[in-house]
Amino acid sequence: MAETKYIFVTGGVVSSLGKGIVAASLGKLLQARGYKVTIQKFDPYINIDPGTLNPYEHGECYVTEDGRETDLDLGHYERFLNIPTSKANNITTGRIYQNVINKERKGDFLGKTVQVVPHITDEIKRNIMVLGKTGNYDFVITEIGGTVGDIESLPYIESVRQLRWELGKDCLCVHLTYVPYIAAAKEVKTKPTQHSVKLLQEQGVQPNILVLRTENELSKAICRKVALFCNVDEDAVIQSYDVPSIYEVPVVLANQGMDTIVLQKMGMPTNKKLDLTLWKKFLENMKTAEKTVKIGLVGKYVELPDAYKSISESLLQAATYHKRKLDLRLIHSEKINEKNVAEQLGDLDGVLIAPGFGQRGIEGKFIALKYARENNKPTFGVCLGMQCMVIEFARNVLGLTDANSTEMDASASHKVIDLMEEQKNLTMMGGSMRLGAYDCRLEKGSKAHEAYKSDLVRERHRHRYEFNNEYKPAFEAKGMKCTGTNPDTGLVEVVEIPELKWYLGTQFHPEYNSTVAKPNPLFMSFIEAAITK
Ligand code: GLN
Repeated sequence: MAETKYIFVTGGVVSSLGKGIVAASLGKLLQARGYKVTIQKFDPYINIDPGTLNPYEHGECYVTEDGRETDLDLGHYERFLNIPTSKANNITTGRIYQNVINKERKGDFLGKTVQVVPHITDEIKRNIMVLGKTGNYDFVITEIGGTVGDIESLPYIESVRQLRWELGKDCLCVHLTYVPYIAAAKEVKTKPTQHSVKLLQEQGVQPNILVLRTENELSKAICRKVALFCNVDEDAVIQSYDVPSIYEVPVVLANQGMDTIVLQKMGMPTNKKLDLTLWKKFLENMKTAEKTVKIGLVGKYVELPDAYKSISESLLQAATYHKRKLDLRLIHSEKINEKNVAEQLGDLDGVLIAPGFGQRGIEGKFIALKYARENNKPTFGVCLGMQCMVIEFARNVLGLTDANSTEMDASASHKVIDLMEEQKNLTMMGGSMRLGAYDCRLEKGSKAHEAYKSDLVRERHRHRYEFNNEYKPAFEAKGMKCTGTNPDTGLVEVVEIPELKWYLGTQFHPEYNSTVAKPNPLFMSFIEAAITK
């Protein structure tokens, strides 16, 4: 294969249409055709990365193996393609400007006026092509964040325009729009799509393929009308109607031949067969599962399910592999108290205590953990969830009543969770946590070792605080074991209570590498414990 091909996915009309899912699904189809694919996201906001953003603003902050805090769509890319992303897969306007300004300060522009076109657009184009230039990929799919018409996405659309001119057939533009159904008129409306394509055309980009997001399947006549108004071939008007699971989207697109259309338009052979066997097996398991596994996810962002995207997808994947439907109960940690805890957690098969930052909602997590521990409920603590397991155990089993994390109470007399040494003198908050994949050595005979079937694993991190090793002997003596440790630093990565059915916390985030093809072993083991009576 000669040149890397570049596919752009833009969005119109409204946000939240699922551009990330469409990009991931198209990537999946090309991969299932035997091509090497990577997907990247360009976000038009000015933050350097989403690491400093509140989940209410941005949903989950996803973390790559190489330690970049990124947009949650990268999680979808990994879950669909089963290949890791990296820092190169998520770029923001902030980073683009920072690079350009650094070059300007170094004098790289030789006295020129530094402008959006060509300097910012050149930097965008350079970043778009970084992964393609490695020679590792046949296709680089680039999702452009935001909606066409936003002031801040203009330089990106302009870069797409330039690249299409420069790359010719090696470049293709997929535009995702919305076709609403007006209930009072009993009609679907194509006008917003027409306007959104016009906006893109005004900016010099003619989309090759349109994906119409709709609630219900659209008639051929509607698709023909859109094709006519938008200068797009009729068979290149694809619809993406609502389906019960995001994992069905690749099949919906494949049934309309989207992969073939892309290959034809890019002058590629279409003789490699599409092989979605394993994917369809997963969907089959999901559809035919009869029994349910009921998991409670305890966190403070439960009004916003996107805040725990990777965790809920990991639970779903593991449940599906165990041929169970996932009944996920989102439980607000601020609303748990001694009186209602039994009612809130009583009928659950398992409890997961979510990651997080700060004091808000933390007391509810302790109450939930005490209940789960005393009632031997399978319980999984992730990052802050693990730290809460440690604090609750210290308070209620070791009798250290004011045990805490220094994050919540810097004056606690028993700082069982404490700031990591290298975090102590930091003043810059962005990108400065312990981030990315680190080794963890697992103790033989532990639940973690049983799950991973390996002595050494690598998992991703995003935290500033750690288990305070001074207390390790006291915890172990009373039954909470440190079964996973970083071999280089001695940092505790996994704690368990072996006496209980399944009570395990991880300082790392196992949810970040769980995929449809390869669900994370800890989630598999947790669900197994939850369904075994
Ligand atoms: N707030 C905790 C820390 O910084 C946990 C972080 C998390 O849950 N990701 O260590």
